Amino acid sequence: MDLAMTIFILLAVHWSLAAFVQSSFQHRYASHRMFSLTPRAERVFHMLTFLVQGPSYLSPRAYAILHREHHAYSDGVGDPHAPKFFSNVLTMMWATAQRYGAHFNCKSSPEPRFLGGYPDWAALDRFASRWPVRIGWGTAYALLYLWLATAWWQFLLLPVHWVMGPVHGAIVNWCGHRYGYRNYATNDASRNFLPLDFLTFGELFQNNHHRAPGRLNFAARWFEFDPTFAVLRVLAWAGTIRLGPTSLAGLS
Ligand SMILES: [Zn+2]
Ligand SMILES: [Zn+2]
Repeated sequence: MDLAMTIFILLAVHWSLAAFVQSSFQHRYASHRMFSLTPRAERVFHMLTFLVQGPSYLSPRAYAILHREHHAYSDGVGDPHAPKFFSNVLTMMWATAQRYGAHFNCKSSPEPRFLGGYPDWAALDRFASRWPVRIGWGTAYALLYLWLATAWWQFLLLPVHWVMGPVHGAIVNWCGHRYGYRNYATNDASRNFLPLDFLTFGELFQNNHHRAPGRLNFAARWFEFDPTFAVLRVLAWAGTIRLGPTSLAGLS
């Protein structure tokens, strides 16, 4: 196989796995409890999220608090990342990162209704978020590129691996509330950006998701396809997860 292709396959595989763990574990499980896991399976999912997101690991606890705020105040004052309050995607993501950091370090005062019901593995969260660990992951990716790259310009792709989690978040939060079509007249600006959302594994069906925040399938019309939902259906069929909400049914 052409070695140049190896870099692109590596990027595509990492991109897809990172999009899947964010959409399935941090979003649909931690924030919305759309499916159930045994305590052991939850730990396996959590560890997998760390291994896949690597240098840009996001704590499911802080993610869930932030995301529940987003749903409660979608595109209004109080929404952590409403595009209409920012001139560009970078300023929006900077503000989002600050708020995430405050939740992560317990230096914020979230409303009590946004707390609880998320995976709380404090030791892993702390370890994964330490700078030496993040830099260690980044160095490992750089060494992999040194081994596999066949041209200098391929190194320009390396930063995408380093900030994969925030890149996915930026695409979803910016495009999903700005561009695309609407199936439902919701009170926010949510939109569906891609009829076939392979890029973010279903996350860009924002309008469908805000209309029915507890619905596991983000696709709603015949031409829409939600890859994360398809994978979760297979995992449920295999007995790895159980579909249906846990004790926090109705959390939106
Ligand atoms: Zn949204
Ligand atoms: Zn959501």
